[in-house]
Amino acid sequence: MERVYLDWNATAPVWPEAIEAAGQAMRDAWGNASSLHEEGRRASRTADLARQALADWTKSRAIEWILTSGGTESIHAAIHGCAAARAGKKRIVISKGEHSCTLGVCDVLERQGWEIVRVGLRSDGTWDPQEVLAAADPATTALVSLIWANNETGAVSDAGALAGELRARRVPFHLDAVQCLGRIPVDLSILPVGLVSVSGHKFGAPKGIGALFVRQGAAWSRWMQGGNQERSRRGGTVNVPGAAGLTAAIARSRSVEAGGIESLRDGMQCQILSTVPDVRVVASAARRLPNTLCLCVPGCDSSTLLDRLDARGFAVSSGSACTTGLTDPSHVLLAMGMSPEDAHATIRVSIGPATKASDLDAFGRVLVEEIAQVRGRAVAFQ
Ligand code: PLP
Repeated sequence: MERVYLDWNATAPVWPEAIEAAGQAMRDAWGNASSLHEEGRRASRTADLARQALADWTKSRAIEWILTSGGTESIHAAIHGCAAARAGKKRIVISKGEHSCTLGVCDVLERQGWEIVRVGLRSDGTWDPQEVLAAADPATTALVSLIWANNETGAVSDAGALAGELRARRVPFHLDAVQCLGRIPVDLSILPVGLVSVSGHKFGAPKGIGALFVRQGAAWSRWMQGGNQERSRRGGTVNVPGAAGLTAAIARSRSVEAGGIESLRDGMQCQILSTVPDVRVVASAARRLPNTLCLCVPGCDSSTLLDRLDARGFAVSSGSACTTGLTDPSHVLLAMGMSPEDAHATIRVSIGPATKASDLDAFGRVLVEEIAQVRGRAVAFQ
């Protein structure tokens, strides 16, 4: 049975050219990028290309990108680094819809005496820029750190307007853009945000490589101690094969048409809504990532549905992969005002450049059958 992978927000399959580039770097650029000999310089040039590729993609400067091990490290570095650099300020503003790594860092800081303000989510899954501004008192706020596109619902909040306001008030702003690169335009020449976290494995680079953008002049200090890699902004030997894979994945991702993915998603959404009774699209009133469909299917336990879909060859998710296996309902869905019952009945389908229309057709048919089985009643597919 050929499997159909519909869980791209958890991770993307690695592009063949990224595998090739990482392998080639392991063969030809295996030196330590900090070493002062040719082997080191070859590795260092490979890492430079990755920072340059990120800069070209996001209209920023290579010097502003620090290679990290992924989104989680970038977010830790952004929050701890801003907290450390802002003496006298003791407040951090986040939302209730953050990824668990942001929530986790802020829980730790709260226990250390920081004031963490968690703004709510609206029913469409976005945070409200006005509520954020009201909480971000410039006299006390060290940082505002917010998720731009939510990994579970796909809801994209309005970061642009907020970034301008925060900059005018001189309040540092970090965006978790882990789900954004390759899905929505990320133009840092017009988005006045200080720090941005990204992760390679969400767009087809190998796992274990990500990056943190720190705009020149931003009040931030290094988090990972150790050596003086990344111009003394991160300790740790640079992951050169990962960097080579990142460069290749960026080149490939830039050639993909996001519009094609969105129309595939919309076609699947129409098909499901017209066939399955009493199903609704979560965050439908918001701007959404073009690849994400989050569905609430009342009366249908999502973990049972997931297992049945998996057994029939389809990989989908019930929220973020990091929380899979836990029985608690998603904190994101609850923050949007959903009942725990509905949150337990919600699945996430996320597609990518390799998804075919025929895969989604087949998925639609099987989904209808399985929902009917789980709900205990049959529905005909049109
Ligand atoms: N932020 C968001 C929105 C995510 O979706 C994820 C991963 O699922 C992360 C952060 C963590 O990124 P990584 O898996 O690269 O550590």
